[in-house]
Amino acid sequence: MRKLKHLAACVSMFAVLGAGHAGMAAAQDSRNATVQDGIAVRPLSRLTKYVPAETINEAAAQQYTQMMSQAQQRGVLLPPSHPEVQRLRAIAKRIIPHASRWNKDASQWQWQVNVIDSKDVNAFCMPGGRIGFFTGILTSLKLTDDEVAAVMGHEISHALREHSREKMAKQTVTNGLARLGGFAASAIFGVDPSFSDMLASYGAQLYGLKFSRDDEREADLVGLDIAARAGYDPRAGVVLWRKMAALNKRAPIELLSTHPGGESRIADMNAHMNLLLPVYARAKGTTVARLPAYQTNVALR
Ligand SMILES: [Zn+2]
Repeated sequence: MRKLKHLAACVSMFAVLGAGHAGMAAAQDSRNATVQDGIAVRPLSRLTKYVPAETINEAAAQQYTQMMSQAQQRGVLLPPSHPEVQRLRAIAKRIIPHASRWNKDASQWQWQVNVIDSKDVNAFCMPGGRIGFFTGILTSLKLTDDEVAAVMGHEISHALREHSREKMAKQTVTNGLARLGGFAASAIFGVDPSFSDMLASYGAQLYGLKFSRDDEREADLVGLDIAARAGYDPRAGVVLWRKMAALNKRAPIELLSTHPGGESRIADMNAHMNLLLPVYARAKGTTVARLPAYQTNVALR
């Protein structure tokens, strides 16, 4: 808001000082070009009215609880005192306050972050803000905090932008509203990407929720925006995908089978850095020009 007022003041200054000046229109144009604050999105799908948020969030909560208690029984749920759990929860704590920008209900969500010891290179955020990371993605990609924030932002964005809910609403409309109850209860939500054998072994009745390419693109960009607002470098998103491509060359990873098109996604993220970097610079109290180059912890070609 302060920024808008500041801009309005600038424009009226131009009007006073530069009335009749040929450069005025150009000056206003270039200023208007900087008005957009981060990534712009279309309104949330109206189709989602067919699937009440409470229905989907409660069912997701149930499945999340079931999954985590089974992980605990198997001895693979990391305890709250584990350094990785503490690290991820600290990152989530910085990101979550920015979530309601994308979905006003998010301030009421019962956010949770847990880590399961498994070699899966994977993470998810179910509707209602229930986040899960597998240690595989942390260790095999050696994720820095900025890169964890890029993954977390991506997964949270699927939930905030209600991609699962929209997909289910479309199915519900197609299949008839009568089936909604059983359908919603049997689905596993927002697990991203669709399910590895390991997830299937958790006994959930799985419903293949593979997000569309548009949803993935939106999750990439909104995810980096929300991470940038929390003070995490959006350039980490590009490095994250480079790391995944490098790992995939050595051993194909599940995540890439449901998140294809690494090169075009990197290009898309880079094409939006002009919007993302100002958000990050502002969060860091500096300017884009003064930002140091992004540095990761491994050598990438
Ligand atoms: Zn995704």
